[in-house]
Amino acid sequence: MKNITFPEGKRFAFSIFDDTDYATVDNVKPVYALLEELRLRTTKSVWVFPAQDRECPYYQSQTLSDPEYLAFIRELGDRGFEIAFHSASMESSEREVTCAAFERFRELLGFYPNIHVNHAGNKENLYWGLDRLDCSPLRSLMRMKRKPSEFAGHDPGSPFFWGDLCRDRITYVRNFVFREINLLRVNPTMPYTDPRRPYVPYWFSSCEGGSVGSFNELLSLKNQKRLESEGGVCIVYTHFAKGFVENGRINRTTQELLEHLAGRNGWFVPVSQLLDYLRVRQPGDALTASERLRMELKWFWSKLMHGTS
Ligand SMILES: [Zn+2]
Repeated sequence: MKNITFPEGKRFAFSIFDDTDYATVDNVKPVYALLEELRLRTTKSVWVFPAQDRECPYYQSQTLSDPEYLAFIRELGDRGFEIAFHSASMESSEREVTCAAFERFRELLGFYPNIHVNHAGNKENLYWGLDRLDCSPLRSLMRMKRKPSEFAGHDPGSPFFWGDLCRDRITYVRNFVFREINLLRVNPTMPYTDPRRPYVPYWFSSCEGGSVGSFNELLSLKNQKRLESEGGVCIVYTHFAKGFVENGRINRTTQELLEHLAGRNGWFVPVSQLLDYLRVRQPGDALTASERLRMELKWFWSKLMHGTS
């Protein structure tokens, strides 16, 4: 396995990408207060606009259009957390809406987002559904569940196209998520470029911690120990609005695991900072066909068995 040295003599690197699904100030603020207290700086995604459709399952989530939530997000940014893009809103957006969302994001926060992660079934998702995969047999299996042209953010002929905007404004987009604490074991060339998916400058992978249960499982003391002893890299993909806070209190196990982690000799920085560091350290490291195939197989199997992101 690849050996990486980290700044300030740190033994491993750790970050979190928080998907904004269902998030409100009430259901995520206590988590951020804890992360700040523990000096863990991470990345939180946002939606810019609310849903038009009241039937949208994410309708209760807050967005930058909500003054209370906007103030909370600005404060997080001021305190060193990274703010990322999770599409214009919780429902599909055509090109003009995505363009307007980028401008509004900058107007409200002072910068364009550097990271994007596709949201669930949004039609403007880039290289999503079948287009996540190269391997023909896996594509055939997936085709049984998905229509080929379901997602079109990368298709210049579609009203949902915004690939050029992504290429010009965004640096990193997430694809595969694994049930593994050390990403160097599965994706040593991260962040990688992919000539077949040119509207994304760099891709990264994540570790599965989508809900409070899988998050706590991923960050078990045994896994933390292995991450540190292997000198690994962990970017947890989670939804802090999914059961981490109940009646204003953080899940006790999560709190203990994070406290334990913070006591280790780790480099705790937002996702972009971590990926920038890896990118500079390994310029020109291209994703090989065999690394890609291994990732696709591992991810597909995990999706089949556990329904990971
Ligand atoms: Zn989402």
